[in-house]
Amino acid sequence: MRIIMRVTDSDSLSLRSGREASNTETLDYIPGRNVLGGLAEAHTLLRSNPVQFNKFFFSEDSTFGNLYPALFIGDELQGNEDPVLPLPATAVSCKRFAGFTFDEEDPLTNPHHGVYDTLIPWALFALSGEQRFDLLSGLRHCSHLSGCSEAIDRFDGFYRQNRWDARKIGKSNIRHGLRTRTGISRQTGAVAKGILYSRETLGPCMTFWGNATVRTDQFEAFREFVQEASAAAMVRFGNNRTRSMGKVVLDVDKASQEDTEDSLAERIQQFNQAFQKQALSANLTPHHAIYVPLTLISDVILVDRLLRYQTQIDTRYLQEVWGLHGGELVYQCNSTRSIMGWQGLLRLPRADEIAITMGSVFLFSFAAPLDVQKISALLRLQEQGVGIRRREGFGSVIVASPFHWEVKGQ
Ligand SMILES: [Zn+2]
Repeated sequence: MRIIMRVTDSDSLSLRSGREASNTETLDYIPGRNVLGGLAEAHTLLRSNPVQFNKFFFSEDSTFGNLYPALFIGDELQGNEDPVLPLPATAVSCKRFAGFTFDEEDPLTNPHHGVYDTLIPWALFALSGEQRFDLLSGLRHCSHLSGCSEAIDRFDGFYRQNRWDARKIGKSNIRHGLRTRTGISRQTGAVAKGILYSRETLGPCMTFWGNATVRTDQFEAFREFVQEASAAAMVRFGNNRTRSMGKVVLDVDKASQEDTEDSLAERIQQFNQAFQKQALSANLTPHHAIYVPLTLISDVILVDRLLRYQTQIDTRYLQEVWGLHGGELVYQCNSTRSIMGWQGLLRLPRADEIAITMGSVFLFSFAAPLDVQKISALLRLQEQGVGIRRREGFGSVIVASPFHWEVKGQ
């Protein structure tokens, strides 16, 4: 069953994105692998119960998603059940006054000129054989009512949308800190001369939101364990946990709303209505019956049969793994990054992996309307995720994210 995990308070966290000594930056979220590692460590220290350990952390149903920063302005973006998600790579805003208008705090000193999703115009441009540059003309400069004509730039980070009112949408604030440390000599165990280094931290006093899945019959016991570990200040996430860092207050709850085949089909329909409407106003006739966007909400590690890393989700993957025949990839907005590997048990590095970055968007077309089997396959794809290491939060995808047709200058 799907559950919600919320960090309601935190120490400074260090979540290194690379192992090079020169890399002092932290990630802006808590990766699922750190959530799994931190909770597994707390369980080992608190309870000597290998049977329960396996049921909680290594059953077929156990997955631990990323926890995304959840510091939002305004009461309407505090809904515990409203997801926090990475912004799609297709989101753009004014380069100078970037931001959603809803979470604009002070229009005089820090105006927000609104956020736009560009998936539909870019996809129409692709469908025009990349000939119709007029379709992209509105994406070059800010069209805010104030007469601003600054350049447009990618808008990244994490957002939350109020489930009852789509116009209420905001970007999470992120608090960074800096910790300066002395190095410890391996020979003497004392402070090493001349070694002083700084690391960027996330927080303190940050809140985070994410998903996990546990065995249904284990939910109550799992919640009890998390409450006990949290109260005993034993839940710690990230690197440098021995240096009074990484402690969090964690809460878990049941997730009430799950997608169904009907709700998914409805969203695909809504996306296609918006798509056809914009195509019509641009005098374009899309050749395909239906279009389905897949938006990555965590990094995805996808390998082919020869274990080669993939840099995109393609039609062959949809066909071979999910039985989704007849698809065609018409547009993609994607990037990749390297994921640092670490063998916690052996305290040794392991090979880095290549992931398709969260926020990447893939638009597929189908020649015929989607039948029940295809909708059902898309729902399973969304529920089960894509690629490997899904237990550690990789591979989460939304089918037909409303962001792509709802966010038009909010
Ligand atoms: Zn502007």
